Amino acid sequence: MKIADLTFEPLIEEKAIAKRITLLGEQLNNDYAGKTPIFIGVLSGCFLFVADLVKQINIPCEVTFTKLASYYGGTTSTLKIREDIDLSVDINGRHVVILEDIVDTGNTLSYLIEKLKLHTPASIKVCSLLLKPGKLELSIEELRYIGFEIENEFVVGYGLDYKELGRNLKDIYRLIS
Ligand code: 5GP
Repeated sequence: MKIADLTFEPLIEEKAIAKRITLLGEQLNNDYAGKTPIFIGVLSGCFLFVADLVKQINIPCEVTFTKLASYYGGTTSTLKIREDIDLSVDINGRHVVILEDIVDTGNTLSYLIEKLKLHTPASIKVCSLLLKPGKLELSIEELRYIGFEIENEFVVGYGLDYKELGRNLKDIYRLIS
């Protein structure tokens, strides 16, 4: 499949994504029973993941979003993080679960975690649909829930973009190099 100037091939199908999300939801329901967690989605790539995951949550919870990006429409991560966090809820004393589409170097995530810690939540954990273990530059102890571990490759679909294209795809695709 062609997206702008690059060619991609299927990596993870819609059905497999749905199955994994059901399991992640069950884990979160168990781990956060009685805690009324706040799920914070990191925009924009997480929007489909958050929508599908929270439908599996059957305990009281809040859902909100923040925006912060380290990619600029290309295929490699940059260390510079453009925006500060934008958060509309009070997380003081609350159990926070960050919902990420993908963790690559981990720089974006660790920056966000440090920022959120300043607001003194009761706990912070991270649930990421995708993780590239081979590219992780920092060890992030909060990274508790992972959907799929993938190779050091660029992926699109299911919310993830290439030059803002491909977010609408139901499956996840990888770049053919
Ligand atoms: P990190 O700071 O962990 O290097 O980068 C995290 C962010 O980079 C993700 O939230 C995502 O927006 C973007 N990113 C990392 N890897 C990929 C990828 O393979 N595909 C796409 N579309 N975005 C990615």
